[in-house]
Amino acid sequence: MTEPSFEGGCQCGAIRYRASGEPVMAAICHCAMCRRANAAPAVAWAMFQESQVAFLSGAPTTYASSPGARRGFCPTCGTQISFAADYIPGLIDLTIGSLDHPDQLAPALHYWDSKRLPWVHFADDLPKHPEFPPFD
Ligand SMILES: [Zn+2]
Ligand SMILES: [Zn+2]
Repeated sequence: MTEPSFEGGCQCGAIRYRASGEPVMAAICHCAMCRRANAAPAVAWAMFQESQVAFLSGAPTTYASSPGARRGFCPTCGTQISFAADYIPGLIDLTIGSLDHPDQLAPALHYWDSKRLPWVHFADDLPKHPEFPPFD
């Protein structure tokens, strides 16, 4: 049995990463901070333990979108790569959209659905959490 592995990177190719093993969580976030950072109506994230993720080339520049939060992006092309925060110690979110094969990881739930734009509708029956979901 081989461990799944997920590779991705930014649009210009300066940043490349690999995540090994199954993600802790894969979900679509509707919060206003993700929306603004990605300039997209909603953002799909795959959360991993930091130890599962290796940067193969380059490293994201980080921006503190709120206290204790670190949004990682490519300083050259602007692709959003990662999210880490003090309230999720040891964990790192990677944008599913930056994967080479984003079809490898399907979101299992929606969160911050209370902030979802009224014209955004996904044709799924996944759980919708009004804010950040409980997980362990
Ligand atoms: Zn780049
Ligand atoms: Zn968000």
